[in-house]
Amino acid sequence: MQAPACSAPQPSLHDAQGRAIAYLRVALTDRCNFRCTYCSPSDNEPPEGLLTRPELARLFALFASAGVRRIRLTGGEPTLRRDVVEIVRDAAATPGIEDVALTTNGHRLDELVGPLLEAGLGSLNVSLDTLVPEKLPGVSGRGARLDRILAGIDAAAGRFRSLKLNTVVMRGVNEDELAALVRHAWDRGALPRFIEQMPFTGGEVVPLAEVRARLVAAGFSLRPDPFRGWGPARHVRATEPGGREGLIGLIGAMTENFCEDCNRARVAADGGFQACLGGTERLSLRDLMRGGAPDAALALAVRGALLRKAPRHRMDEAGSGLVLLPMRGIGG
Ligand code: SAM
Ligand code: SF4
Repeated sequence: MQAPACSAPQPSLHDAQGRAIAYLRVALTDRCNFRCTYCSPSDNEPPEGLLTRPELARLFALFASAGVRRIRLTGGEPTLRRDVVEIVRDAAATPGIEDVALTTNGHRLDELVGPLLEAGLGSLNVSLDTLVPEKLPGVSGRGARLDRILAGIDAAAGRFRSLKLNTVVMRGVNEDELAALVRHAWDRGALPRFIEQMPFTGGEVVPLAEVRARLVAAGFSLRPDPFRGWGPARHVRATEPGGREGLIGLIGAMTENFCEDCNRARVAADGGFQACLGGTERLSLRDLMRGGAPDAALALAVRGALLRKAPRHRMDEAGSGLVLLPMRGIGG
């Protein structure tokens, strides 16, 4: 008689709501060469230092063995780390990891596209808030150069599994550029995405409803599309008056809460594990690792933090009294 088929249980990480955590965002540094008004990056690294490359590789393996399938490297600006290409290589070589992604401001992208591809990077997000060179210093500081960002995007076009251009929509700054940003992305085979500004540094939210209305006023017709990537974006299929069609991603952290099917968790540059973007609890994986904790103890601590994760963030609740940890510390 044949023995009944018996498959090994799939490893999995779950939060208190039973949501499976398959996506880990890892900030490689707190620092940045830009000064985006909505983000407020740091001038200094954490006092105890960043996670080292071996510490990062250990965490990649630990999370992958617990069920994480995708790693996004972010920051701060991840390309400020000299070992960013080697870190991508480590992540891509980790058994169980299906996709390694990077989010960058694009300043060093042109020179890094080749090495990142060779190291195994699959997906790339580039922040692009304006196509008007004179506006950029007011948004991202004097270190930001639009020609460099655009050259990086052009160098990356058509070479990664996925290329997305992220725009934080800002009142009085770029809400008049939405159509141009969509066309710029589509011309390069990239997915344009519009993000509601989260209140890490204050600022008025331009709601996604207005983003859609502005695109329609610019001549696009929009219909909802079921496409879902790994992240919180919802998508619309847009058609231009000339008939060209494509997807647009919309991330509505403030007016269209995306927590219901949250699949991700974060490790900050200082090794702080944060179960929720809007949460205030950090578990220091760096201190545990440097204190000699074995993998089993790290895994137990992570599972405990996930069980304390709230059902949803409260950034959209006026007067909630939340003091948020800044975006650059948790990598978006
Ligand atoms: N430096 C890289 C960059 O800018 O792409 C990676 C780090 S950045 C913190 C990651 C993403 O978070 C970027 O797409 C950025 O636009 C977004 N971001 C930063 N602050 C934000 C805010 N207050 N609200 C919404 N998105 C924000
Ligand atoms: Fe730097 Fe990115 Fe923050 Fe802008 S959003 S300041 S590029 S970390």
